[in-house]
Amino acid sequence: MFIPKQIYLPEDMDKALKELAKKEDRTVPDLVREILSKELNIIYIKARKVIVNCSLCGEEIEVTIFPNKRYIGGHYFGKVTDEKFEYWECSRCFKK
Ligand SMILES: [Zn+2]
Repeated sequence: MFIPKQIYLPEDMDKALKELAKKEDRTVPDLVREILSKELNIIYIKARKVIVNCSLCGEEIEVTIFPNKRYIGGHYFGKVTDEKFEYWECSRCFKK
C-alpha cells in the first residue's frame, strides 16, 4: 500500500494527531498508518468471498465482493437468460 511520506492535513486534525502522537509517544505517520489500516480492515471484513466457475474453462475462481459492489478475482459479465446463471471468466480466459 502506498502511503505518502508527506501528507497535508487540515490544521485542527494535524494538531489533534500531533497531540495524540505526543501522548502515546509515537509519530504522526505511525498513527495515520494505523488509522488507514483499520479503515481498510473494516472494508475487508465486510467483503465476502465466493467461489464461481469460469464459464469458459470451468476453473474455480475465488471472487471477493466488497460492500460497494466492487469485486476482485474474476471478470463478471452479468446474468444470463434465466437470471440464475452468472457469466464469469477467469483471468486467463479473459486475456484471450
Ligand atoms: Zn477460464
